[in-house]
Amino acid sequence: MSGWSNWSGLESATPTEVVVPDSTEAIVRAVQRATAERTTVKMVGTGHSFTSISAPEGVMLKPDRQVGILAVDRAAMTVTARAGTPLHVLNAELERLGLSLHNMGDIAEQTLAGATSTGTHGTGGLKASLSAQLSALELVTGDGSVVRASRTENPEIFTSARIGLGALGVLTTLTFDVEPLGLLEAHEMPITWAEGLARYDEFIAENHHCDMYWFPHSEAMQVKTNNRLDANREPAEPLSKFRAWFDDDFIANSAFGVINSVGNRRPDWIPAFNRLAGKLLSERRYSDIPYRVFTSPRKVVFREMEYALPREAGLAALREARALIERNDWRISFPVEIRQTPADDITLGTSTGRESIYLAFHVNAATDHRDYFGGVEEIMVAHEGRPHWGKVHTRTATDLAKVYPGFEEFLHLRDRLDPDRVFANSYLRRVLGD
Ligand SMILES: Cc1cc2nc3c(=O)[nH]c(=O)nc-3n(C[C@H](O)[C@H](O)[C@H](O)COP(=O)(O)OP(=O)(O)OC[C@H]3O[C@@H](n4cnc5c(N)ncnc54)[C@H](O)[C@@H]3O)c2cc1C
Repeated sequence: MSGWSNWSGLESATPTEVVVPDSTEAIVRAVQRATAERTTVKMVGTGHSFTSISAPEGVMLKPDRQVGILAVDRAAMTVTARAGTPLHVLNAELERLGLSLHNMGDIAEQTLAGATSTGTHGTGGLKASLSAQLSALELVTGDGSVVRASRTENPEIFTSARIGLGALGVLTTLTFDVEPLGLLEAHEMPITWAEGLARYDEFIAENHHCDMYWFPHSEAMQVKTNNRLDANREPAEPLSKFRAWFDDDFIANSAFGVINSVGNRRPDWIPAFNRLAGKLLSERRYSDIPYRVFTSPRKVVFREMEYALPREAGLAALREARALIERNDWRISFPVEIRQTPADDITLGTSTGRESIYLAFHVNAATDHRDYFGGVEEIMVAHEGRPHWGKVHTRTATDLAKVYPGFEEFLHLRDRLDPDRVFANSYLRRVLGD
């Protein structure tokens, strides 16, 4: 039996059976059979969650034959795709059609269903998560029913199933709001910690998208802003192939990978490496179509914890995290990433009902994360933080009920759509209860 493990290598599982459904009917049959046999069934994505959220215990469904665009509606400006389509495939198809998503995270390897089910988000914009860009979805529920949901059809399902954690059904199709393909101008600039925090509100107010990185053990920060250009007037000025490879592949992956493996053997060198990295950061500007600006390859394998905090608490929490790092003898080689999102209205959305600042903490995949993540997590929790569903955290259903006003509502919907818990696994038992 082939096993399952996630991208970071932190989680693994052995399903009882592997099925690669080629149609919605095949998914319905797999769900009904699992219910009849009192086992569980789990559709996995590409395993890019750092948690065991997609770990299969019974039957594992693989998304490989659930790929492709099904419909383009230029009047409504929506595109419907099969739920297992990788984000990079959707992006390339949209480019061909002269269309684009509004926003996305740092990579494009995930499946659409996997990314939306955990609330995968970028920074800034009018909508920050992929889930907030959904206008309709279809899923197979616990009794094998095929249900459609949108703001007008089964709206209570739509409100929750856009970030369903894989607990409400197997998604078969997803309809995204799209916009005409335009250009983003990226501006990357080294700044100091003091300047970054002092000018934070200005960076958010004056740019469509803003992403910041702080290099632990140093005063160095990098700010990255992305702004929409008028595609009819502005010719794109992308990075040359060499510069793109040198900065985003060689420096960000190959050289960073070497530094990380040296740092794993000589952790005492990490602060000096980080201070050097801060000095080597340089300013650059380029423009390109959105997905080439938002996403880039990540080849150095890591573990990550990310919390969404109320906007007004975010910078205080960041200052406390820095003080904690400095009080301990941890050696942190990865920058802390700082993003911002507008509020959304998704029941278990990490930004539901509040504008948020996201703080993301990383360690190399070979590093024990528990002291660092555990210490920082206490700060995040004290500020009413909500953990990213796909990233390392230790919160339980009891904890999470306190930070999600709609938590009970989600549990009721779960009881309705999956009364027999055919989609359950140990992660869902921890974060939602039995
Ligand atoms: C290098 C890297 C960079 C990342 N960058 C970002 C980022 O910038 N922003 C961010 O927010 N996150 C980021 N993430 C996290 C990542 O986007 C999420 O964890 C996402 O869920 C991964 O998608 P996946 O396809 O791998 O799904 P998986 O991790 O395999 O599954 C996630 C969940 O989706 C469910 N699922 C999958 N398919 C279906 C389906 N058809 N129906 C119902 N449920 C389904 C699974 O059962 C599981 O519950 C990053 C992760 C990595 C490793």
